[in-house]
Amino acid sequence: MDSRIPGVCLLGLFLFGSLLWGRVWTTVEGSQTEGELLSIEGGRVTLLIDGREYIFPLARFTASDRAYLLKWKEEERCGVCRKSLGDKKMQAGEQVFHPACFSCLVCDRPFFDRQSIRRDEWGGMVHSEHFRQAHSCGSCGRLFSSPRARPQQLFPDGRVSCLSCLQDAVTDVSTLDAVSKRVRRGMSELGLPAPTGGLTMRLVNQNILNKEVERVHGRGSLRGLTLTTFRTITGGPAAGTTFSHEVWVLSGLPVVECVSILAHEFGHVWLNENYIEMSPPAVEGFCNLLSMHLLNKETSKLADILRKNLAMSDDLVYGRGFREMNKQLDKLGWPGLIRDLSTRRVPLNRRGR
Ligand SMILES: [Zn+2]
Ligand SMILES: [Zn+2]
Ligand SMILES: [Zn+2]
Ligand SMILES: [Zn+2]
Repeated sequence: MDSRIPGVCLLGLFLFGSLLWGRVWTTVEGSQTEGELLSIEGGRVTLLIDGREYIFPLARFTASDRAYLLKWKEEERCGVCRKSLGDKKMQAGEQVFHPACFSCLVCDRPFFDRQSIRRDEWGGMVHSEHFRQAHSCGSCGRLFSSPRARPQQLFPDGRVSCLSCLQDAVTDVSTLDAVSKRVRRGMSELGLPAPTGGLTMRLVNQNILNKEVERVHGRGSLRGLTLTTFRTITGGPAAGTTFSHEVWVLSGLPVVECVSILAHEFGHVWLNENYIEMSPPAVEGFCNLLSMHLLNKETSKLADILRKNLAMSDDLVYGRGFREMNKQLDKLGWPGLIRDLSTRRVPLNRRGR
């Protein structure tokens, strides 16, 4: 089933189509891939493989590849096309560019001295006065020209996606199911079992999700939602509590982001089944720890951006909650943290509401 998910297990499955401009890279474990070298910064190598950017530690490559990489790094390169620079170059901040590459992705005109520029983390740049004619991808932040966007990049619920994220978009339940298996594996490693109750997943648009969040008095415009129904039977052979869970995820998120959202929602499922009651920052912080655990398995640059967003969010519940919970995780480790949370169990019949 995993072969359905693009971008999984990189360096292991480097058998994508042959790319003319690529170079074959070999890891110390002996696996090979073909990809274009984009950058080396602080011991992190970014390769473009099958149209997506992935980040690998330099130490992962063979000695001869490492020698090639270090030599490549010595040359001064264009911040957009990464090719070697000649005599004519433009400087913007730390980066240098070919004059032809240093241009606005809305109007295509080059930037001149002292012009104000907006840029993304992917090398995309626009004139500040053209920023309103650009969209920023809702998942990865990549800028793209609004007038030139393809219709499928503009979702009917108002979200926008770059072509790269759209290529990986989860829009059907069978792909969502494959993603959920991956998340489930990541959670079972931590000692978090699959739920005992039934669980159904739904892909929804932002309007439907927001409406439901509002109905259950949730917060903000979320990307996923968990609705757990408890049913308690007292007395008789069937005595006990059963659960059923509905997990809603926004349709059209790229696989890596969908992994992160599902991990978060499955965190809620585990907390609900174990009657663990905590403050909203502790609950959301714990669920975000699970997102981070799954994102840490990913090598794509998108995963890197999502990790940064999680860790640095200034949201008082999600961001601060994550940082507080992360401190607990550092102190206790996963087994200790899970034990600690399990002590906060408040059975249904002893709840105030
Ligand atoms: Zn260039
Ligand atoms: Zn422009
Ligand atoms: Zn994107
Ligand atoms: Zn949540």
